Amino acid sequence: MKKIAISLLLCLPILQISAQFQEDAFCNTPAPEYSEFISLPWFGNSSFIYNFLDEINFANYKMTYDNAKYYVPIKIWVYRTDEGTGGATATELQQLIRDLNTHNITNNTGFLYYLKPEIGYIDKTKFQRVNFTTEAPGLSLKNSDNGCINVHIVDDLFKKVDGSERTTGAVYHSVTKSVILKRGLANSTLAHEIGHHFGLLHPHENWKEDKCKAEAVDRNRVFDSGCGKSGLICEQNGDALCDTPAEPDLGGYSNSSCKYIGKITDLWGDAYKPNINNIMSYPMRKECRDNFTPGQIAVMLITAKKYNECGWDANCIMKSNPSNPYIFDAQEPDDSPAMASEIKGNTQQERSLHRVFSGDTKTPNQPDVDWIKFEVTQTINSADIIITNSNNYKGTVKASLLTDKLEVLSGNKLNQPAVLTLSTGTLEPGIYFIKVEKAGNNLDNSLFKYNFELKFN
Ligand SMILES: [Zn+2]
Repeated sequence: MKKIAISLLLCLPILQISAQFQEDAFCNTPAPEYSEFISLPWFGNSSFIYNFLDEINFANYKMTYDNAKYYVPIKIWVYRTDEGTGGATATELQQLIRDLNTHNITNNTGFLYYLKPEIGYIDKTKFQRVNFTTEAPGLSLKNSDNGCINVHIVDDLFKKVDGSERTTGAVYHSVTKSVILKRGLANSTLAHEIGHHFGLLHPHENWKEDKCKAEAVDRNRVFDSGCGKSGLICEQNGDALCDTPAEPDLGGYSNSSCKYIGKITDLWGDAYKPNINNIMSYPMRKECRDNFTPGQIAVMLITAKKYNECGWDANCIMKSNPSNPYIFDAQEPDDSPAMASEIKGNTQQERSLHRVFSGDTKTPNQPDVDWIKFEVTQTINSADIIITNSNNYKGTVKASLLTDKLEVLSGNKLNQPAVLTLSTGTLEPGIYFIKVEKAGNNLDNSLFKYNFELKFN
């Protein structure tokens, strides 16, 4: 009896969490409780959003890799076989983070994301395919790091519907603050799931409900009497944001060329005019999504502020080490040969060796290193690797050229370099690596910004 009671007790949290994973067409993320929704400060009050955007001078904010408002660590969990094979590759993970950052930079959201240094591996063949209902909640509870967003990458995420298995895409789970993602989805999917983490709903939320719950196309339409609500519908129904148009679940109303093809009207007879490219929407092709609206960005920033994670907040990070802002470049993550970023011959990249940390201002910093790779397709006489110090960095910098087997071919080290050049000699066809690192004091965490040029002669 006691045993049963204990196992029931152990099951209870899992059951509660399972209940929050609800059937949905694609992303599976349930809407928050209504009581929670109506307590949001912008619920029924769009001016809260616009005032916030004014306060942060959003209209003039042009985001770069240097001026993010939040740097959010992502802990990745990769599901592999019992033997430790298979699962998402380093290249896939690198692409996930880069795509996520690209969507945030192009929309000036203020958010940048980086990989926590250690990837978590779950080596259990049975979990390469994860049952959405019975396994996903427990796995995301069990495998979870604090102070970051946990992202689980599985080969397949499925649910059983009427006895047959059906693949599903992704889910954000608010209790475990984790994302579960099937490999190989569109590059907007992680940005979408993290959008949920920072408070965003689907713009089509409740679109099939009645006039008291569904959003109206007309931005000036107010509630009918009988709903027990008053004021603008767009401020309270749907996602409660008036700058995301009312829309149906776009899956059935859009085509592969990212065009809206629906001919339907809302409950008041107005034809829908949706955005097809909103990251929180469900167009048929998820690749169509590349936009967050200012209202959505405000919600994400307000929610981030509420989370109050010092290790994510650029101002708070600065306070812990004012002379050394946390700035990484567009090529990150590239801290290992497996994640080396590629450069083509006769091109340049703006790069940096920056302070490394993992969302926790107490953990000691580690030295950063950049791994860069390039391909030689036919024998060349030589290549010049030219590293130009662009922020007057005072330390020692080392650059090494390595083969694809990571054998060192040559290297050069300079103190306070204005320009550091590495000439290679003849290069046969193949893949080559360049490692750029600081060679003085390993604990030197100050920022080294540099221009990296690869010249084929
Ligand atoms: Zn979603």
